[in-house]
Amino acid sequence: MCALTAGQRGRRVLLLDHAPQAGAKILISGGGRCNFTNTGTAPERFFSENPAFCRSALNRYQPADFVALVEKHRIPYHEKTLGQLFCDGSARAIVAMLLAECEAAGVTLRLGCKITDIAKPDRFRIATDQGEFTAESLVLATGGLSIPKMGATGFAYDAARKFGLRVTETRPALVPLTFVGALLDMMRGISGVSLDTEVTLAKHRFREATLFTHRGLSGPAILQISSAWRAGDISLNLLPGTDAITFLLDRKKTRPKAELRTVLAEILPQRLAFALAAPHGPARLADMPDRTLRTLAQQLAAWRLTPAGTEGYAKAEVTAGGIDTRDLSSRTMQANNVPGLFIIGEAVDVTGWLGGYNFQWAWASGWCAGQAA
Ligand SMILES: Cc1cc2nc3c(=O)[nH]c(=O)nc-3n(C[C@H](O)[C@H](O)[C@H](O)COP(=O)(O)OP(=O)(O)OC[C@H]3O[C@@H](n4cnc5c(N)ncnc54)[C@H](O)[C@@H]3O)c2cc1C
Repeated sequence: MCALTAGQRGRRVLLLDHAPQAGAKILISGGGRCNFTNTGTAPERFFSENPAFCRSALNRYQPADFVALVEKHRIPYHEKTLGQLFCDGSARAIVAMLLAECEAAGVTLRLGCKITDIAKPDRFRIATDQGEFTAESLVLATGGLSIPKMGATGFAYDAARKFGLRVTETRPALVPLTFVGALLDMMRGISGVSLDTEVTLAKHRFREATLFTHRGLSGPAILQISSAWRAGDISLNLLPGTDAITFLLDRKKTRPKAELRTVLAEILPQRLAFALAAPHGPARLADMPDRTLRTLAQQLAAWRLTPAGTEGYAKAEVTAGGIDTRDLSSRTMQANNVPGLFIIGEAVDVTGWLGGYNFQWAWASGWCAGQAA
């Protein structure tokens, strides 16, 4: 996006990538259909040490601008849920669109190019295994640390540090959470079960599906909250929109002989219901004191869970943290103290929610830098 925008302004652009293929993450995104933007994009849907930083870029290049490009290339798309726009067909169409725009703008693309050194004696000097290049402007767009086996590296962080920019703590985000001990045994026993939930951590709250796995918890709700989690508890509501205690007391009155697990299976997936009822034995509702039902209802509405960790960069969709926004212009992404150096996309300490926000940030920050580089 940055290369094609700068090219359209008449700049001579060279795009270097060490990968053999362009846009590899676009190709695997959104289950192969690329959730390329979200119509509900707003600064509140991004994590950053400076939550206001992304505002300017997101305002200057909006989801509608990217949609216009998609429509210009006649790529069929649809809205899935919650403003998420996906290709009807393959994500390859998005990569082809960007490459076609780059070509039309005269961008030179060199794939499989290993960068060995960057320096700025006066102009930028980029040493590679395909020769040395010099440039007035240099844009770092090398992403974060997620999915190292696809070639992700900490290159942008190292290069930025070399030029004196600060880098905030980085960590895996949009990533499954892991558990240990008896809780993990229970989760393993019901791996594959998925249900609508509401997950809460401090001021963050997401109502989406949670999936039990053989390592702990995943699914959109958990991926979302993982971006805010560092240590401590998360709270999981297994019955959003249902008043669990009213339900249980009503069933105790109307079906006193029913077993707890049978009654729970009316409102929860059966395997989960059975697992939650197991510690109570084969209890009939009539034999369970109201206070036990109240405690259980409390667990169903706000189950406090302490993750042991995350599944790490190997499974993380994005990296949270990154180039410190205090060292960048929010309008152009240019480094405040290094004229001509720009940093965009996931490398910057701006991390979107799940649902097309991370691509929108990549497009928007890339477009802004492309206007100035
Ligand atoms: C499985 C998966 C699914 C995803 N699905 C979605 C989705 O549907 N919607 C969404 O909004 N976001 C999604 N994301 C997140 C999204 O892919 C990223 O936020 C986005 O690609 C970031 O763009 P970027 O250009 O900053 O970095 P990247 O897309 O990671 O691109 C960085 C480029 O730099 C190159 N590079 C890295 N290191 C070097 C180096 N040392 N030398 C030379 N080149 C280098 C890489 O080869 C790569 O081409 C998904 C991520 C994953 C992992």
